[in-house]
Amino acid sequence: MPSLLKFADSDYTYEEAKFVIFGVPFDGTTSFRGGARFAPNAIREASINLESFVYDKSFNMKNAKIHDFGNLDEQGRVEDVVNDVKFNLGKILDDNKFPLMLGGEHSITIGSAKALKNYDYAMIFIDAHSDFRESYLGVEYSHACVSKRSFEYLGKERIASIGVRSVSPEEYDDPEFKDFYHKTAFYVHKNGIERTFDEILNYLGKKQIYLSIDMDGIDPSFAPGVATPEPFGISTWDLIYVIDKIGKRLIGADIVEISPPFDNGNTSMLAARLVQEIISSKGNF
Ligand code: MN
Ligand code: MN
Repeated sequence: MPSLLKFADSDYTYEEAKFVIFGVPFDGTTSFRGGARFAPNAIREASINLESFVYDKSFNMKNAKIHDFGNLDEQGRVEDVVNDVKFNLGKILDDNKFPLMLGGEHSITIGSAKALKNYDYAMIFIDAHSDFRESYLGVEYSHACVSKRSFEYLGKERIASIGVRSVSPEEYDDPEFKDFYHKTAFYVHKNGIERTFDEILNYLGKKQIYLSIDMDGIDPSFAPGVATPEPFGISTWDLIYVIDKIGKRLIGADIVEISPPFDNGNTSMLAARLVQEIISSKGNF
């Protein structure tokens, strides 16, 4: 169903816009706490309650050219959703605009990886989970296989993940897993985000970056309303350090895995605030 809600300050038409927000209300492969399909509108609702002025960056969101085209149509099959995301996100990139996708579960990012294949962009994941399963419950496009599929589409040089702390024996034993560049949340805690993130950027080189934020990468004390919470996560400060540091190199982003039925509102509010951080870090271009 099309959304009548719009993200705050998204006052521009598609043609005028530099930033294009869209929602993907899909949680069809979710294994634990469903409800991510409600997240795009929960994030939009939260956004209305934020100041338009991003004080730490002296950036007025009203000066960013933002368009919100609502939600993609709801579909039952994950393959259809992934193809729909690939098409829409690819078109936004082709039009030299910045896609900002609000999930939905993480499987939708497989569509982003498919779209990014045609470009020389890198992809950074924030995630508690390695998402490196070959398939999960018989589904290759499961939310538990996002990094694996992206690794296959983009190649190991173009993907990295931060915050990982949940890996299955099957993933650990996968010979390709050792080539999957990732930094655990424990590593971040021990070495600090500055050093950790420098290492990631050294690995990826000078490429422009698409950032996929699975909200469970953040510690559940900051982001409790997610589909599969996992203790010992990175902090919100770590995350905004990352966003600020990539800044102008960002070419697109998604925020996924929030489950509003398990949220007291703070996780959606955090996501809305992250949208502001992403847009104000990228700035006008
Ligand atoms: Mn994930
Ligand atoms: Mn996850």
